[in-house]
Amino acid sequence: MKHIIIAGAGMGGLAAAINLKQKGYDVTIIEASSKLGGLARTEVINGHHFDAGPYILLDQPGLAWAFEKLNLPLQENVPLLKLQNVYTVDDKINFSHDLKTTAAQFENQWTGQGKKYINFVKATTNTHQKLTPHTYKSKPGPLDIIKKGNFSLIPFMLNNLAGVLKKYDINTELGKAIGIWTQVAAQTMKKAPAPMSLVPSLIHGQGAYYPKEGMGAVPKALADKVSAMDIPILYNTRLTGIKKTNKKIVGVSTDKKENISCDILLCNMSAIAAYQLMEDTIPASYKRYIKKLPLQSPGIAAYLQVKSKKKAPAPYLKFCTTHKSLSTIAFANPGNIETINGFHQARLVAPLDYEQAKKMSESEQLALINEQIDSPWWQENIDDFKIIHKRTTYDWGSKFHLHNNSMNPVMTAEFMRKGRMPHKSKYMDNLYFCGSSTHPGQWVSFAAISGVLSSNLIDKYHG
Ligand SMILES: Cc1cc2nc3c(=O)[nH]c(=O)nc-3n(C[C@H](O)[C@H](O)[C@H](O)COP(=O)(O)OP(=O)(O)OC[C@H]3O[C@@H](n4cnc5c(N)ncnc54)[C@H](O)[C@@H]3O)c2cc1C
Repeated sequence: MKHIIIAGAGMGGLAAAINLKQKGYDVTIIEASSKLGGLARTEVINGHHFDAGPYILLDQPGLAWAFEKLNLPLQENVPLLKLQNVYTVDDKINFSHDLKTTAAQFENQWTGQGKKYINFVKATTNTHQKLTPHTYKSKPGPLDIIKKGNFSLIPFMLNNLAGVLKKYDINTELGKAIGIWTQVAAQTMKKAPAPMSLVPSLIHGQGAYYPKEGMGAVPKALADKVSAMDIPILYNTRLTGIKKTNKKIVGVSTDKKENISCDILLCNMSAIAAYQLMEDTIPASYKRYIKKLPLQSPGIAAYLQVKSKKKAPAPYLKFCTTHKSLSTIAFANPGNIETINGFHQARLVAPLDYEQAKKMSESEQLALINEQIDSPWWQENIDDFKIIHKRTTYDWGSKFHLHNNSMNPVMTAEFMRKGRMPHKSKYMDNLYFCGSSTHPGQWVSFAAISGVLSSNLIDKYHG
């Protein structure tokens, strides 16, 4: 039986572990942290439970697809709440699940924009349907699109988010509100990939979701299955070395001074970090390419316990784009779980450009977090709050074992077209990757899908 080491137990690594074990492989997980789930896990800080990274599920169909492949029906394993009042930008542009209500509100603010928004959502719903099968394929390319006869996808993929919004004559202010998901990832609309324009079609179609038990319930469902399958996990263990002969990996070494042999290595840890552990094996041009990839910062965050005013029909997420120092701040207020004496978890999240974050000291970042906490805009429907934790990019990096305090290479339209980090390494016969940096998208759902796709490739080439 082939022995596969999976380095990292984020969404991608967990999904891959289940898939491989189900296919009969001998799997061992090496995880640097004491918990499973990576960025998507629940964090317990001073006894309070928090969603660590993600705050919303915008791609429920993709997550359901991955869970189905793992024989874990999503709704049975992760009960989800469909969000009706999804988000608001600067307290005046509201997006709800209901398309008509949302469009009517835009029509009131800017004559003609309601109708244009409806046309835009109809067209992008159609695009989403055509694009979806390609997201369930490892490294899809133009040939796949041509084979399926989806020719309209080619100009779409060659465009960027700003270009798609312009095509449907969406005005700048509304366009910025539609593209808020790009801004909150510290990216400009012109550089962002065209598929970011599909978010409204998801919100008004399948819906945007929040798990009843918090975001951590998503990786927890995978982690529970991993435990039930008796997959061995080495916790608090970092992969620090990769042993190879010619083009084959024969084992890994860890910070615990252990050497573990394997037939196949699957990295859910950063692909860039893994390649840096075997720099002597990869061509100089690839080394240069990897070093130049622009990275994405996880940004800064304040973890709060809040008491919301009872009757407030608050949207789940509020965004502010008018703050003096930060481009966007998101206030995520789930309000449905973990009420202790009337307080529940909430979070302020702000993006930082990676290069900017690198130049800032930890105390400079903490000062920015204090500024966001002091802003009055998010406190409107809040009676009381307590600050539980302030998270800088340094804190993200050390607690979540991020490569140079970055989540992954930043997703630009150009990077998406060139292809992201492939699931199967070109340079080693038995080296594979999964996780957010290997899929054209970087949501929780895409990380899970990447775990399924990369493990299917392993089975295809080594089964
Ligand atoms: C602030 C923020 C907000 C987000 N918002 C959303 C959102 O609203 N919706 C959404 O869908 N997604 C969101 N995301 C993205 C989503 O959380 C991630 O893309 C996804 O969880 C990444 O999963 P992954 O499989 O790539 O692994 P990761 O979560 O990156 O996990 C990798 C694992 O590898 C381990 N590891 C690292 N190095 C080593 C090593 N050397 N040896 C052993 N183990 C190692 C780490 O400890 C970790 O457990 C957000 C992320 C952040 C940070």
